[in-house]
Amino acid sequence: MNKCTLCHEGQYLNKHVVFSSRRDGQVVVVEGVPALVCDVCGDRIITEETAREIEHIATGTPVHSVPLYHFPEKVA
Ligand SMILES: [Zn+2]
Repeated sequence: MNKCTLCHEGQYLNKHVVFSSRRDGQVVVVEGVPALVCDVCGDRIITEETAREIEHIATGTPVHSVPLYHFPEKVA
């Protein structure tokens, strides 16, 4: 296994993650995405192939709609 490029401490482990991105201004969420995740800082790496697949999946019909929340902006 290769070491994390961010924290240089953790190792990347094969995991499944929830991936979210934006498409036409809409938030799109894909569950069960295979990724390499750092066990220390949580940095995630997905392959180009996986990224392409996500793009493809996100054009199809969603299996669920999820509640979407927005964290309130704090005025300093
Ligand atoms: Zn790390």
